[in-house]
Amino acid sequence: MSTAFQYEELDSKIGLLTFDLPDQKVNTLSRAVWQELSGKLAELEQQSDLKGLLFRSGKPGQYIAGADLKEFGVLMASTEEAITGSLVEVHDILNRVNQLPFPTVALIDGNCLGGGTELSLSMDERIATPNTKIGLPEVGLGLIPGWGGTQRLPRLIGINAAIDIICGGKTIPASEAAKLGLVFDIVPAESLIEEGCRLIEHLQQSGDWQTTRATRSGPLGLNEDQATFTFAVSEGGIRGKTSPKHYPAPFIALKAMKEGVNETLLDGLAVERKCALEVVGSPNSSNLISVFFMNNQIGRDPGLKNRDAIASEVNRVGVVGAGLMGAGIATTMARSGVPTVMMDVSEERLADGMGRAQHVIASRMKIGRATEADMVNMLSKLNTSTTHSALSGCEVVVEAVTENEELKTSIYGQLAEVMAEDAILASNTSTISITRMAKAAPNAEKFVGMHFFYPVDRMQLVEVIRGEKTSDDTVATIVKLAKQARKVPIVMKDCAGFLVNRILLPYMIESVLMLLEGADMDQIDKVATKFGMPMGPIALHDLVGMDTACYAGRVMVGAYSDRMVEPSLLQAMVDSGRMGKKAGVGFRKFVGRKKSPTADPEFNKLLDEHRTNTREFTDEEIEDRLFLAMLLEAQRTLEEEIVSEPAHLEMGLILGIGFPAFRGGILKWCADSGAGTILDRVSKYTELGKRFAPTDSLLQQAKQ
Ligand code: NAD
Repeated sequence: MSTAFQYEELDSKIGLLTFDLPDQKVNTLSRAVWQELSGKLAELEQQSDLKGLLFRSGKPGQYIAGADLKEFGVLMASTEEAITGSLVEVHDILNRVNQLPFPTVALIDGNCLGGGTELSLSMDERIATPNTKIGLPEVGLGLIPGWGGTQRLPRLIGINAAIDIICGGKTIPASEAAKLGLVFDIVPAESLIEEGCRLIEHLQQSGDWQTTRATRSGPLGLNEDQATFTFAVSEGGIRGKTSPKHYPAPFIALKAMKEGVNETLLDGLAVERKCALEVVGSPNSSNLISVFFMNNQIGRDPGLKNRDAIASEVNRVGVVGAGLMGAGIATTMARSGVPTVMMDVSEERLADGMGRAQHVIASRMKIGRATEADMVNMLSKLNTSTTHSALSGCEVVVEAVTENEELKTSIYGQLAEVMAEDAILASNTSTISITRMAKAAPNAEKFVGMHFFYPVDRMQLVEVIRGEKTSDDTVATIVKLAKQARKVPIVMKDCAGFLVNRILLPYMIESVLMLLEGADMDQIDKVATKFGMPMGPIALHDLVGMDTACYAGRVMVGAYSDRMVEPSLLQAMVDSGRMGKKAGVGFRKFVGRKKSPTADPEFNKLLDEHRTNTREFTDEEIEDRLFLAMLLEAQRTLEEEIVSEPAHLEMGLILGIGFPAFRGGILKWCADSGAGTILDRVSKYTELGKRFAPTDSLLQQAKQ
């Protein structure tokens, strides 16, 4: 018999129910847990002499992480009746919590997410500790809060704030929850029970809890104008951020509120169940849940199979180069609490770097995601210097100077004189071989690639690249450091382009080749965004800059000359100053204060000089060429065991280039389309060259 709940009665006739899943780090809500709670409720329903009930987690700093997602696999594959039945069961339990014959208060300390929030919403009041975070992140998993969240939250904090949290899949800090009235008060963890008892006494004395319960069980009472305006504006806002075809969950959550909040709570819950059926079990949601699991798996992964590898503590980091990337990396390290020294050739460069560091926090402050204290903390951890000797005490030095092999390796010689023998040197290079540069490093075993993505503060992915001689301890330490900086590290073997750029470049190059064969650039970009990419490949060229794209393309052609092609147009664009957005002109021109991209008739002259054909393309052909080129390179990368797990490849592309998470990854896209179908599609393009030669793994999968 499970014992997730312990009940005790405090001296003052107040009950205390503690939820503490045995042998688990966090509390989650499984079917067994709900059933046990139902049993506890049956006992509590008899105790009409109680003054009230406090509910808490037995895990300090961890309230309830939400539903037990492992059970979702079963639920997702169930019939509509079974899904509805399971929702009715939980709704009934929560309604019974809500109808206990005494006031109830949730004592929340730590993460309170999804089902945990919905359970707390069924109680009369909530008190939180300062480190509490409360959220309903379901839409991020392609679901809606289906345990009453879409109905109870609007009745508690009002429709606009509820839409913001539910449709945005947001998690908010206790301070914000208090402002919204989602929690009654914020108190230190050690006073939770005492304050909970006081609140129960207060609720009993005022008697308000019964009237409040009655009000919250009724309709929200929006008048017709209010309702029409609110839901229309909200839907427009969500459409501005995402498409209902790719991410339907926020739209369906909005529908549940629109159709349910002006009904009684019970009818509203019935609406919620109906809406939940539209998302539970959908391919979209199962892909998003599998991405969630892959992300968790990487979070737990130490990065290598050797369990004896030792990940050392890093108490001081050095960053060489205070440019776009160096400043970003130094800021990230300092923000995570690691004392960091940023080094560059002059005080001017360092001042620019510090300006960038402050801008990162200042822009977060503007949107309420950082405070003055965060700025002070970050600055207190970040020092600067123009001399290498300042790096002498660092256990890890990240080199982020200009992309030039000669410059980088000459700096390694200078660093050898100041770095401790066992210190790690990590390069942020995007294109240079780690194995080759290791020869110039102070110690090849302690040399590794640590490739951050731009902008560093927003991109979670870090590629950790092992050179031939990089030691396991070095990899383990860098993986641990990246996680400490709240990044997602993926370990890989050294190869040109590493993981992400190696797979991205064939897609980018293919877009230019199609343009040269006559395809329309707007059509190419539209097909890519319709597929779910955050922007089209032509727009991406303009964003990264033609010089960078051209250089990276050349590295790839050098390394994979059997299949990669260099479109002559790119060099011609560099030569004529069409560098992309930064130059105001590239494939498109960038006009106005916002630098919005618009068609540039002048570009057509250059394009015509390089075009080899003028035929029209269908959307299908464009999709095939873009994404099959990407898929085949992804499969080659796996065949060469550049990463150890397919999940690492999937997550690398999702986090590194924004490959659509709702597709579950590029390999999942292949599996969902059917390997046989993909092989047929690939076969149409084999005359284009080896880049469209079916890979061994595709042939094998198709056979199976
Ligand atoms: P950047 O030009 O913005 O910055 C380079 C900095 O290195 C400059 O501040 C320069 O003064 C400094 N520097 C040059 N010589 C130095 C020396 N001897 N000692 C100390 N500092 C020196 O370049 P960036 O975009 O930050 O790129 C840096 C590295 O990061 C490159 O290897 C690049 O390939 C890689 N990278 C760039 C991006 C990107 O999007 N920009 C993304 C990932 C990786």
